Amino acid sequence: RTVYVNGEYLPETEAKVSVFDRGFLFADGVYEVTSVLDGKLVDFDGHAKRLERSLNELEMKAPATSDELLEIHRELVAKNGIDEGLVYLQITRGAPGDRDFAYPAADVPPTLVLFTQNKPGLADNPTAKTGIKVISVPDVRWGRRDIKTVQLLYPSMGKMMAKAAGCDDAWMVEDGKVTEGTSNNAYIVKGNKIITRELSTDILHGITRAAVLQMAREAQMEVEERAFTIDEAQSADEAFFTSASAFVMPVVEIDGVPVAGGKPGPIAARLREIYIDESRKVAL
Ligand code: PLP
Repeated sequence: RTVYVNGEYLPETEAKVSVFDRGFLFADGVYEVTSVLDGKLVDFDGHAKRLERSLNELEMKAPATSDELLEIHRELVAKNGIDEGLVYLQITRGAPGDRDFAYPAADVPPTLVLFTQNKPGLADNPTAKTGIKVISVPDVRWGRRDIKTVQLLYPSMGKMMAKAAGCDDAWMVEDGKVTEGTSNNAYIVKGNKIITRELSTDILHGITRAAVLQMAREAQMEVEERAFTIDEAQSADEAFFTSASAFVMPVVEIDGVPVAGGKPGPIAARLREIYIDESRKVAL
């Protein structure tokens, strides 16, 4: 695989980052994951805008303009022959020559790393036909989940707790309400209404969420942005989640309770189809 590090395209075995990099020592960094369909980038502009926001919130310098980042994405997709897959981008606050909690001087350049993940069958994922099972876990993450930082230890632990319970993912719960999945936004359906938590600092503002909600409204579906409980989700007509890497994915069991007879529902299936079709048309 060819990867990108600070201006260079290199074989992955030759790419290097300093042991003093603040991403490594402090999880002081942000990231984006953009999907690739037909060799093109899905909603690159949305990801570039969120990246800019994450950087601003952390007072971190952008190492490249959005146009330059788009070029690097495209170059990596081409060099690695990706038809369906993902591009991972990470920016950390660089590598001062020592470990220090205070941010380094302004002349320390940020570290920019990108790599691709080849995922043939991303759009035609058979799991979308059967759905996935989730458990609920308490949400003990920090209070700025709207910033897409590389601090992903608790979501990893959630994923492991889910696996230990024979499930695929975990939905996190705070003050009795679902915040989001370990790496996705959570939804339920009641009748013709799609319900998902409102935007705040409590959740990541999913790029797929924004696109899917807009498409749902355009398709005359009703959308309500509010938090919901696990009880409400277990008795909903459908449950699903969205993310750049899974698009729209049905959830058929929550804490051992089947949702709507344990079968994926029609609204999630329709939204998945609309989202993938529309994304193919506008991908860059
Ligand atoms: N919520 C969390 C915690 C995430 O990590 C992600 C994606 O990685 C999402 C939601 C979905 O965001 P997006 O649709 O931009 O991939």
